[in-house]
Amino acid sequence: MSLRSLVNQLDLCSINTATLGHRLPVEQTLELIARAGFGAIAPWRRDMEGRDLRKVGRQLRDSGLKVNAYCRSTYLTAQDSDGFKKSLLDNGNAIKEAAELQADCFVMVVGGLPEGSKDIAGARAQVTEGISLLREQARSHGIALALEPLHPMYAADRSCLSTLEQALDLCEQIEPQGFDSLGVAVDVYHCWWDPKLHGQIERAGMQQRILGLHVSDWLVPTRDMLLDRGMMGDGVIDLQGIRHSVEAAGYRGPIEVEIFSRDRWWTLEEEHVLKTCAQRLQEVC
Ligand code: ZN
Repeated sequence: MSLRSLVNQLDLCSINTATLGHRLPVEQTLELIARAGFGAIAPWRRDMEGRDLRKVGRQLRDSGLKVNAYCRSTYLTAQDSDGFKKSLLDNGNAIKEAAELQADCFVMVVGGLPEGSKDIAGARAQVTEGISLLREQARSHGIALALEPLHPMYAADRSCLSTLEQALDLCEQIEPQGFDSLGVAVDVYHCWWDPKLHGQIERAGMQQRILGLHVSDWLVPTRDMLLDRGMMGDGVIDLQGIRHSVEAAGYRGPIEVEIFSRDRWWTLEEEHVLKTCAQRLQEVC
């Protein structure tokens, strides 16, 4: 399968609302994204605080935007069983919200080590249990769960799930019969360095588990572990190479721009950021 052209095809592209820094109310954000010609949006739970989700869902559909993903889980790893139960409840609510918005999937960032813990194997066991319980709820709402492995620099505080291989092992362990409700989100920022990346993308594709492709770029030097992601084309990631593998593996969903950039892109006007995203998607992705 050849690479889809993105030239004049922004309907194949999505904007993750974090890219705009959550500075405007979601109603305004979605208007700007739709007006800029994008076909989809990936909103965050924080965008929906105090909102009537049915109303926002309607506005999204009226504006022609698909909700390709809803961001994201609260961490599953917890110090004790009360904390674990609380996280399951909260994530259960988020899954209902995702269903209300008619999102294609709910993104899972699983959590790192609980405070004071050095037991990463224990944290991973909690993650496995949590995902398998939440999968049942997601299934009953017709929502898929997209496990998003995060770069290993976040293993302690955000995600003890660090590679695509690990995420796929988990999917297969919980869904041994093949894809049902559990898949993966491939975020180039987290995965680009992985020597096994292309093989694991192929593996994910064979099981039809690729639920998202997130793009941004890795800046050299990177000045902040969390909030210094680059605009596509400004860093060292082989964006076309990765998209090529993902599409060769059968992925046909949107290319989602997800940039956390406190000192650069979050200081610029939303329209300008969207225009730059549109250009770079067509030129370098
Ligand atoms: Zn991502």
